Amino acid sequence: MKAPKKDVRDYIRTIPDFPHEGIMFRDVTTLFSHPRGFRMAIDQLLHPYAGEDIDVVVGLEARGFILGGAIAHQLGKGFVPIRKEGKLPGKTIKQPYTLEYGEAVMEIHDDAIEAGSKVLVVDDLLATGGTAEAGIKLLEQLGGEVVGCAFVIDLPELGGRAKLEALGMDVHILCE
Ligand code: AMP
Repeated sequence: MKAPKKDVRDYIRTIPDFPHEGIMFRDVTTLFSHPRGFRMAIDQLLHPYAGEDIDVVVGLEARGFILGGAIAHQLGKGFVPIRKEGKLPGKTIKQPYTLEYGEAVMEIHDDAIEAGSKVLVVDDLLATGGTAEAGIKLLEQLGGEVVGCAFVIDLPELGGRAKLEALGMDVHILCE
C-alpha cells in the first residue's frame, strides 16, 4: 500500500514549553530541512502571487528570511529583510510593537523600498499579528504597497489574521 501523501503540516514539529513554559513552539526547521517539504511550502506560499505584479519580497526576522529568500529567487525578485533592532548596519526607520511580555522594535533600512513598490511580506508563523503589523507599518512609511502577507502557520486563537485583514491585507496561510 502506498504511504499517504504528506502535506506541509506533517513536516512541522511541535516543541512544548519553548521558549517559555506553556508555549507550544511550532518548529519549522524540520520543514526547511526536508527537500520535498521545503519545496512544497515555497510553491504553496507563492502560488497565489505567481501572476501578480510584485516588485520585492520582504522577510520578517528570522525564519521569514529563509522562506522569503527562496520565494524571491523563484519569482525573480529582490529580497529585503525587516530585522529586530540593532542588526541592520545602515540608516533605518523603527517600529515598536507589543510582545507577549513587553515591547520590541523592528527596523528596515530607510532606502530598502522604493515608493510605490508592490511588496509581498513573508514569515513562518502568524500569532497575534504584532510582528507583521509592525513590518507593514514600516513598509507603508517608505511608500510600499503591501499586496500580500504569506505565512506557513496560523494560530487562529490569537487573532493575527483578523488583525491583518482589518488593515485591508490579503492574508495567505498554509495551515493552522
Ligand atoms: P506575533 O507577532 O504574535 O504574530 O508572533 C509571530 C512571530 O513570533 C513570528 O515571527 C513567529 O516566528 C514567532 N512565534 C510566535 N509564536 C510562535 C510559536 N508558538 N511557535 C513558533 N514561533 C512563534
